[in-house]
Amino acid sequence: MPDRTVPYLADHAAWAAEFERSFPGAPAGYRRFWRWVRLVGGEVYRIGGTLPSFPLERPADVRRSLRAVRPQLALAAPWLFATVGRVKQLLGARGSAEADALIDALLLDATGATASDCSAVQGGIALDLYRRGCQWVDGGTGALAMRLVRAIRSFGGEVRFAAGVARLVRERGGWTLVLDSGERVTARAVVANVPPAGLDLLLGRPPRIPKPGEAWGAFVLHLGIDASGLAPLHPFHQVVADTADLERAGANALVSIYPGRGARAHRWSISVSTHVQPAEFAVPPGQACGRRAELERQLLAAVRRVIPDVDRRILLLRSATPATYQRFTGRPGGFVGGLRQVPSVVALRAPSRRAGPQLWLAGDHTFPGQGTVGTALSGINAARDALEFLGKEPPL
Ligand SMILES: Cc1cc2nc3c(=O)[nH]c(=O)nc-3n(C[C@H](O)[C@H](O)[C@H](O)COP(=O)(O)OP(=O)(O)OC[C@H]3O[C@@H](n4cnc5c(N)ncnc54)[C@H](O)[C@@H]3O)c2cc1C
Repeated sequence: MPDRTVPYLADHAAWAAEFERSFPGAPAGYRRFWRWVRLVGGEVYRIGGTLPSFPLERPADVRRSLRAVRPQLALAAPWLFATVGRVKQLLGARGSAEADALIDALLLDATGATASDCSAVQGGIALDLYRRGCQWVDGGTGALAMRLVRAIRSFGGEVRFAAGVARLVRERGGWTLVLDSGERVTARAVVANVPPAGLDLLLGRPPRIPKPGEAWGAFVLHLGIDASGLAPLHPFHQVVADTADLERAGANALVSIYPGRGARAHRWSISVSTHVQPAEFAVPPGQACGRRAELERQLLAAVRRVIPDVDRRILLLRSATPATYQRFTGRPGGFVGGLRQVPSVVALRAPSRRAGPQLWLAGDHTFPGQGTVGTALSGINAARDALEFLGKEPPL
C-alpha cells in the first residue's frame, strides 16, 4: 500500500497479530471480521470440495449438491444473499480506511468486486483462500493444459490443436461443429468452454457482451528481466498505488514473479496485471497506444516497489490489452476472469450452464465463476451433465 507493506500471512493467529501491527488502532470489529472470514470461508471451501451443482435446475443438481449438507452449512447459509460490506457493518469492522482498502484490494483481485457489493460467501472464501497457500503450476498454464491433453488421450479421447470452431449447427440428434478449416465434426453432446457471448457468435446470434460493471478486462505487463545478484523474492505481491480509487486502471496491480531455473536461473519472468474496462481500449488506435504506454508506465512503477532497480534489468517488455484477449483467447469484448461476484450471480442465482439441447457451457461465466479452480468445477458439472445424457456414469 502507499504507506505500508502488509504480509498477508497464512497462519490465522500470526495474521491476527500482523493485522494489529499493520493497522494499529483499527476497531475490534475487524478482529471479529477476520474470525468470520475464517469460519465462513472455511465452510464455503468445504462445500466447494463436495463439488456442488448450482443453480438448482434439475433433480441431478439437487442430488449432487445434497452432498454438501452438513450441520456446519448453517455457518454459510445465512450470508448467501448478503454482501461483505453488510457483514463488516454488522460486525463493526469499520473506521479504518487503510484496513478497508486492504480488504477491498484483496477482494477485487479474487472476485472482481469490492466489499460494498461483493457477495459475502464468495468474499469469505476469497479472503480465506490465500491463506491456504498461494501456488503456481510448474511450467505455467501451458503445462496444465498438456496434462489435460494427456489425460484426455489416456481415456481414448482425441485432442486437436489449432482447430478453431467457427460455427455450431443444430442437427437431428446433436450438433455439427464447423471448424475454421471447413471440416465438419458431428457430436451428440457439446460442452462449449467459452463465455456466453462466444457461444452466441458460434450460434450466429447477437453476442451477450457483459454490461458495464458486470465483468472486467485486464491490462497485463509481461517482463523478462536479468535477475543477477537479486536475492530470492516472494513470488506474489499486490501493489496498491491509490487507496482512494482502487478500481481505476493501474491503481491496483498484481505482481507475480517466476524465477528462472537451471541455466536460466538469472532470467526471471514477471507478469503484472490490473483491472481495466475494455471500453477504455475501444478507441482509435492512436489513443489506445497512448493508454497502453501510460499503463505500462504505471505498472512498471508498481514493480519498482518490489524490485527498485527493475528498469535497468529489463530484457523484454510486452503488454496485453483487452484486444489481446479478444484475439488470442476468443473472448468477445476482451472480458476476462468471469462475472463480478455480486450476490445476484452467486450459487443458487448463478447463470445456467444449460445452453440448449445437448449443449452445455463451461468456464468462468458459469457457476462457481472467477478463476482457474472455479473453472474446473464448471467443467466437472458440464461433463457430468453430458455424460448422464449419453447414459454413462460420471466418475465424480
Ligand atoms: C491477467 C489475468 C490474471 C489471472 N490470474 C489468475 C490467478 O492468479 N488465479 C486464477 O485462478 N485465475 C486467474 N485468472 C482468471 C483465469 O485465467 C480465468 O478465469 C480462466 O482462465 C477461465 O477459464 P475458461 O476456461 O473459462 O476460459 P479460457 O481460459 O479463456 O479458455 C477458453 C479456451 O477456449 C479457446 N477458444 C475460444 N473460442 C474457441 C473456438 N471458437 N474454437 C476453439 N477454441 C476456442 C480459447 O482460445 C481458450 O484457450 C486471471 C486472468 C487474467 C486475464
